[in-house]
Amino acid sequence: MPNPTDYRMRVEEILRDSSVKSIDREIISDILDQSRAIIFDGHFNLINGMHTDTFFRFAQILQYPRFITKISEGIADWYSATYKINIDVVLSTEGPGMVLAYEISSILNKKYKMKSTAMFSDRDPATGKPRNSLSEGFSIKSRKKVLVVNDITTTTTGIATLIALAKSYNAKVIAACVFASRAVEEEKAMLYKKTKIVLAEMIDLKIQQWPKYDCHLCKENMPIIYSRDLQMLTACDMNTPEILSELARNAA
Ligand SMILES: [Zn+2]
Repeated sequence: MPNPTDYRMRVEEILRDSSVKSIDREIISDILDQSRAIIFDGHFNLINGMHTDTFFRFAQILQYPRFITKISEGIADWYSATYKINIDVVLSTEGPGMVLAYEISSILNKKYKMKSTAMFSDRDPATGKPRNSLSEGFSIKSRKKVLVVNDITTTTTGIATLIALAKSYNAKVIAACVFASRAVEEEKAMLYKKTKIVLAEMIDLKIQQWPKYDCHLCKENMPIIYSRDLQMLTACDMNTPEILSELARNAA
């Protein structure tokens, strides 16, 4: 096991300057360090089909309510300072993003006197990507103002789906924010071109990814882990490297 200081250093090496600066860098590092949300030295198949050795898993952070509150407050503070428009709906997708949406909505209401509700879309169980439909029982009224949020984006396509979903109800998307982004600049530019929404992120991760045919880890026959398999694990499981090797063996 690498020592804790090494872990923190490695985390700081892959953090780029991000757009949402409402939480101190030091606190972000503490959250990532304590939750171990970034998993290094693996061999992962991302939902976009690319391969990588580093994986970000928001579920690690979900086990600490105080971190979720801190992150949500940071996003609520950033939103209020930047847009000054009252939000009606905080929209995310089934899964970890839901927890953020509820907490952000709650803080917008308490601290900024808004009257927002939280809603979420269905998601594809195989890939974890949002689907273009609201979960059963939800509906967004015409002209409502929407803040789209999610835990992480890999390529921005999930965020584009949520924006399109809100627009299909004739609602107005004011802003979109993720806790973590590993999208490249071209993908963010494409999202803006399609939706006219600038995606904001609290942490911008500089993590290399590459196509399967160009994967040095595949060439070394290192067993691969699919992101959908990681999603099924509990946060506690992830703390043991043996589980990771076991998963990779099963997937092989
Ligand atoms: Zn590979």
